[in-house]
Amino acid sequence: MNVDIRKTASHRRRTKIIATLGPGTDDPAVMEGLIRAGVDVFRVNMSHGDEQEHERRATLVRQSARKLKWQVALLVDLQGPKIRVEKFADGEVELVDGAHFTLDTEDVDTPGDRHRVGVSYKGLTADVTPGDILLLDDGLISIQVQSIEAGRVHCLVQQGGILRNRKGLNLQGGGLSISGLAEHDLPHIKLAARLGADYVAVSFVSCAEDLNRARALLRDAGSEAALIAKIERMEAINNLEEICDATDAVMVARGDLGVEIGDEELPGLQKRIIRTAIKHNRIVATATQMMQSMIENPVPTRAEVLDVANAVLDGTDAVMLSAETAVGKHPVKVIESMNRICLGAERHFEAEGDIMQLNVRFQRIDQAIASAAMYMATHVAVKAIIALTESGSTAQWLSRVQTAVPIYAFSTNAGSRRRMAMFRDVFPVKQDSSSDDADEVIAEALRTLLAHGAVADNDRVIVTMGDEMCESGGTNTLRYIKLDIDGRARYGV
Ligand code: PGA
Ligand code: MN
Repeated sequence: MNVDIRKTASHRRRTKIIATLGPGTDDPAVMEGLIRAGVDVFRVNMSHGDEQEHERRATLVRQSARKLKWQVALLVDLQGPKIRVEKFADGEVELVDGAHFTLDTEDVDTPGDRHRVGVSYKGLTADVTPGDILLLDDGLISIQVQSIEAGRVHCLVQQGGILRNRKGLNLQGGGLSISGLAEHDLPHIKLAARLGADYVAVSFVSCAEDLNRARALLRDAGSEAALIAKIERMEAINNLEEICDATDAVMVARGDLGVEIGDEELPGLQKRIIRTAIKHNRIVATATQMMQSMIENPVPTRAEVLDVANAVLDGTDAVMLSAETAVGKHPVKVIESMNRICLGAERHFEAEGDIMQLNVRFQRIDQAIASAAMYMATHVAVKAIIALTESGSTAQWLSRVQTAVPIYAFSTNAGSRRRMAMFRDVFPVKQDSSSDDADEVIAEALRTLLAHGAVADNDRVIVTMGDEMCESGGTNTLRYIKLDIDGRARYGV
């Protein structure tokens, strides 16, 4: 059966945890430890590693999840058109304040030195003007554009430092014209399909069109993955509403976003992105440097505790770890700490927002049913919401309204269950019966929850379902049920 449910009885975590795969997670014992400690989604980062490594890691995730009978999703994160400097003759150079440094888009192959380095993005010379600030290595180093000549951008080092091979390059304030997908993403999209990715994250999205294109390529490759739009460029902030419409989920990608727009803008923008995503019925993850010091240390800093907790209080569906698990020294401890911090923050979470949704006109009946269920859950005593949901879409609507009531989403579809692993407050459960007798399916769901201590005798629960069992998108029914000692349903209050 499902361990997620058993855990819910005592300490049910509403917020989901995403962990990035890497050398730090390759040991099968560590992988099991990570799942037991509470990872809901594993991320394959296409910016590092080769195809064999990605395949090996994805297989390990699936095997371990199957063994532990846990619903775990796989997220493939495309590299996107991240601009990077090429390599240096010595692997790195020291750039000193006030020195001249040239970015060379003509001669990309000659190894760099302290005067110049190759950049393979041809459009750079057209995108920058003198006075612009370029940021290297996530903003550790800044250089100012002095002049531009055929294929070369001459700069002055403002804040120096050690610059290593293949470090990223951003334009402060945004405005680079590349976006969405890059040439090197195309084989990765095929790989995502082969790995059976549940989510695919599109990096450096600037508009809805980037997502439409990614979705079309994924479907062509035979993948049904849900899309995550990574919000990491100024342009994406400006087009946030249309991006939300075109995607299934968004990620507050604080690493690149902070470099482009200034880190002081991040706290406010994080709240705005999360709010906008939820309003659009989208899932939202918050990423980057959440537990950064735990790459080395066995405990987080106070600032990290507060950062993770604040993302939870902002209403994020999931919090993400990058290097902390991929290459960190204490991958399992990171998850244990994050689990604890999320649980702590959730005790103080106060749902706000318009539960009544008086001014909303619903487009779909399942949305109206979900809203009615959540309204009911906040006005009568309810221990759980049971969503019989084939595609997971009702669970998604339900989880956009915050209440203290857990949502147990029963589905016969394994892909839907894995996708729902990222939804805040949703606990995906395998539905064995594909009977079209509603009472029988409900009785089975109640028995499962009873067996795991998620509900008890005399508890009241709400059930959402469709007249046609196991049909996608058919939810049109709401039931209020009182359990009797045998786990049978009795109707009425
Ligand atoms: P990355 O994306 O880790 O792939 O760069 C996340 C971010 O930019 O924050
Ligand atoms: Mn990024």
